[in-house]
Amino acid sequence: MKYILTISTLFVFALASCGHNANEQTKAKEMKIDSAVAAKKDFSKIQFASKLDYSCFMPLTAGVGDTAIIDGKVYGFCSKECKDEFMKNPAANIKAGEAHELSMKK
Ligand SMILES: [Zn+2]
Repeated sequence: MKYILTISTLFVFALASCGHNANEQTKAKEMKIDSAVAAKKDFSKIQFASKLDYSCFMPLTAGVGDTAIIDGKVYGFCSKECKDEFMKNPAANIKAGEAHELSMKK
């Protein structure tokens, strides 16, 4: 229950921060996320672009094994293998992931 609360809090933060997309800010944010990931593997403070792994479409609530940053957005993956698969064609995989997510909401 506590975990679910944390995730929805993150989601609210992600929505609230949408207005601040200056390039320099985004870069600084990316660096912060990179070092946070490298240092602690602490994903709890990261705002993910999606709640899904855009490679295998598993919900990230099941656990995050790796992340990728594309255009200032953080994508989470259940494993490094999923990230590697995603990184072969990030643009196409983001499109496919978003389409998958929309189909889930119907
Ligand atoms: Zn996966």
